[in-house]
Amino acid sequence: MVDKDIWPIGVFTSIDAGLGVRLEVASQLKIPTIQLHTPMREGRSPQLAESFIKSLDDLGIELTCVFGGFDGESYADIPTVERTVGLVPQETRSSRLQEMREISDFARLLGCNVVGLHLGVVPHDRNCKDYAEIVTVTRQLCDHVSSNEQSIHLETGQETAESLRHFIQDTQRPNLFINFDPANMILYGMGNPIEALDIIGEYVRSVHCKDGTWSDQPGITWGREVPLGEGDVGIETYLRKLKEIGYRGPLTIEREIPQEPERQKAEIKHASDLLRMLTEKIWR
Ligand code: MG
Repeated sequence: MVDKDIWPIGVFTSIDAGLGVRLEVASQLKIPTIQLHTPMREGRSPQLAESFIKSLDDLGIELTCVFGGFDGESYADIPTVERTVGLVPQETRSSRLQEMREISDFARLLGCNVVGLHLGVVPHDRNCKDYAEIVTVTRQLCDHVSSNEQSIHLETGQETAESLRHFIQDTQRPNLFINFDPANMILYGMGNPIEALDIIGEYVRSVHCKDGTWSDQPGITWGREVPLGEGDVGIETYLRKLKEIGYRGPLTIEREIPQEPERQKAEIKHASDLLRMLTEKIWR
């Protein structure tokens, strides 16, 4: 038997039917950890936090990360992501920074010390004004979450591993880390995810287990998200690489087909079986 503290399975969930499956799905599939997509502002109350903690306790499930998200974000295609996602779009930057602070405070109510987010598409030119401003806003966010004794985990995919490494180094905050999503590297056309771990592995503190296939025009159009094990990530190679970089944390399954809940649940079960089998094979 593999030590149960190594690579516990996780799943991406939501409370109010945003991204991610409902908590009951994790429970029914005997998945011991979750990441939570934040509820919308009106749902982030102390009462909701209290009842959610009780549900987690009753089910014996551990919350490992609260992911931020905002009204107006769209993942419709790559140009839309650039325009709408995260703290990058200028018009909404300061209001979203404020909202991320509130999400961090809500995560604290939930007893969670990790806050995740898609920062958005950071400009590649490290000398441009916008890049410097995004570094500043990220520092402000890191400082707030630090006051809540939390870390920030940036979701990967919207930039290459080299760019992300530079960004983290430029930001110079000790609580800034990475939530590594191998499929996003492929879907956005931002490089081979296994090689990326050689570059940014030291910052990886949480991961998504998601699979995808390359676009025929990488970086211009989306690749396709597919069930775990059926895409171009190479899940066994991915897990072996995670072991090599010293990662022992949760393997959080993400499968974003909320419009097909039955299929979503079946594919998450399949992913969980696959990850358990591979964990046994790799660590035994
Ligand atoms: Mg992800």
